[in-house]
Amino acid sequence: RQAAFRTDLSVLLDQVGAGKESLSFMKRRIRRLAQQWAAAANRLDAKLEQRWRDQKKILVHVGFLTEESGDVFSPKVLKGGPLGEMVQWADILTALHVLGHNLKISMSVKELQGFLGVPPGRGSCPLTGPLPFDLIYTDYHGMQQMKQHMGLSLKKHKCHIRVIDTFGTEPAYNHEEYATLHGYRTNWGYWNLNARQYMTMFPHTPDNSFMGFVSEELNETEKKSIQQNKVNNMAVVYGKEASMWKQGKDGFLQILHNYMEVHGTVYYETQRPPEVPAFVKNHGLLPQHELQQLLRKAKLFIGFGFPYEGPAPLEAIANGCIFLQPKFTPPHSSLNHEFFRGKPTSREVSSQHPYAEQYIGRPHVMTVDYNNSLEFDSAIREIMRTQVEPYLPYEYTCEGMLERVHAYIQHQDFCSLEPPFVPTNLSRPGSAGGSRVPVPLFVPLPNSTALGWASNVTAPAAWPPLSSLRLIVSQEGQSCVETCRSAGFICEPAHFRFINNKEALRRLEVQCDVVDSEVNHILPAFSVLRRECGLQREPLLFSCAGYSPKFRRLCPCRDFRRGQVALCRDCL
Ligand code: UDP
Repeated sequence: RQAAFRTDLSVLLDQVGAGKESLSFMKRRIRRLAQQWAAAANRLDAKLEQRWRDQKKILVHVGFLTEESGDVFSPKVLKGGPLGEMVQWADILTALHVLGHNLKISMSVKELQGFLGVPPGRGSCPLTGPLPFDLIYTDYHGMQQMKQHMGLSLKKHKCHIRVIDTFGTEPAYNHEEYATLHGYRTNWGYWNLNARQYMTMFPHTPDNSFMGFVSEELNETEKKSIQQNKVNNMAVVYGKEASMWKQGKDGFLQILHNYMEVHGTVYYETQRPPEVPAFVKNHGLLPQHELQQLLRKAKLFIGFGFPYEGPAPLEAIANGCIFLQPKFTPPHSSLNHEFFRGKPTSREVSSQHPYAEQYIGRPHVMTVDYNNSLEFDSAIREIMRTQVEPYLPYEYTCEGMLERVHAYIQHQDFCSLEPPFVPTNLSRPGSAGGSRVPVPLFVPLPNSTALGWASNVTAPAAWPPLSSLRLIVSQEGQSCVETCRSAGFICEPAHFRFINNKEALRRLEVQCDVVDSEVNHILPAFSVLRRECGLQREPLLFSCAGYSPKFRRLCPCRDFRRGQVALCRDCL
């Protein structure tokens, strides 16, 4: 069946259910943004020009909100606890509904069992018939629950699953055997999914798919009026929980206070939290629409380093604030910071909000060293005299999110076997390809080679299409994430299978005495010094994130649309 856009959200609102603060929060959000979604649906509908869209049967199982997982989030909704997840799930549900799919929503194990048609009760009772859904969106908690209640059949159906995963999961952590052998095991599990089945809140690691969420959009009149009503010396602090204000903030808060009136939205029960200095005008935790009003007046939205990578800075920038945030030197990661410890990623977080830093930047975002009071002081003064317009990247508008989710649903297919393109007979020793091209050891390799030869490869199902592929060689110790980014592209894990072969090495004139095929997440790569080349034997370990000091990697980069990094030029 063909999917038709929906602009009426009442059915969705009924489906979400009631009785918990988390659900009320999501419903308030869905209602507040309903107009915006409807307008976006109409625009995307026109843009897609009657293109056929399959209507999918979709189950959304929100694992972290189930009682069975302990539901630690719902009681914190009104107390300054994390709301980003709730924001994202509300938006995912809305996007799927608006795109016209056949949606079922489950927020308990009982509902999950009912929808899947497995007998209720404990213990693993495998699903015997076919899976009654084309797609299942869930989270890590939901994965655990499905494993418990679907038993072995989970394996059979896992290509239909998408895992909403805020901070991302790198391939080395996802592969059970590899993670176990090489120290990448975490409590989150190793589900042996294709890493693109994990969907993140920001476009962190291109190994995963970027799902995102939306922010409030303004029309031209609203933008004008916001700019006219900005209060140049008004700052709002990012941090709704008192603990976010602890430790060593006094120095720069005092500097800030020298210039500006400081506002906060810190949750409190009866009296002012002791962490919040007396000069701060604290509004208490605000409902989302009241926070938006406050942000419309404020000139500065200032982060203290936590929470990491939340939605609020995008909302502030969309309402015409400048976001000031601390630079992290050295970057925070699972190796050196408690918050990230045990998370299935080694991603290095260079500031409180790397997306704001890297994708938005000045004049909307300033990332400075808070330990340097001169730098901090001059940043505040610069902010007070800088005029900015409200700004929202296209990928965080409703239309942008609908476009991206539409493309994923229609094109991403992890069920049909992708032809592996893994070479079978390796010459050893010998050169990479047939004829050896004599090149000196340290000749700078061509930075980029247009892959004319790869288009001869027949890959009808390739998405993103092969036309978007650019093969680039990394420096030693550099990941493909950085390599592609510094060339103005993005790493595209779906393209690894086209460059994981001797032909690619030959085209790049790499000198290989040996070409091996191994299970290692930095492959395909080569060592210049040792003249060793390695191809990847385990497609699940194709990794944009991987790097190794002595190896140069073969990186499958692709172009991307401005403001919609998830999609290449020819991706729609
Ligand atoms: N928020 C709110 N009231 C407040 C402060 C924040 O409703 O007083 C909302 C805000 O609009 C944002 C959400 O909380 O959409 C998540 O904010 P944050 O960036 O702090 O991320 P989190 O750590 O909660 O995931």
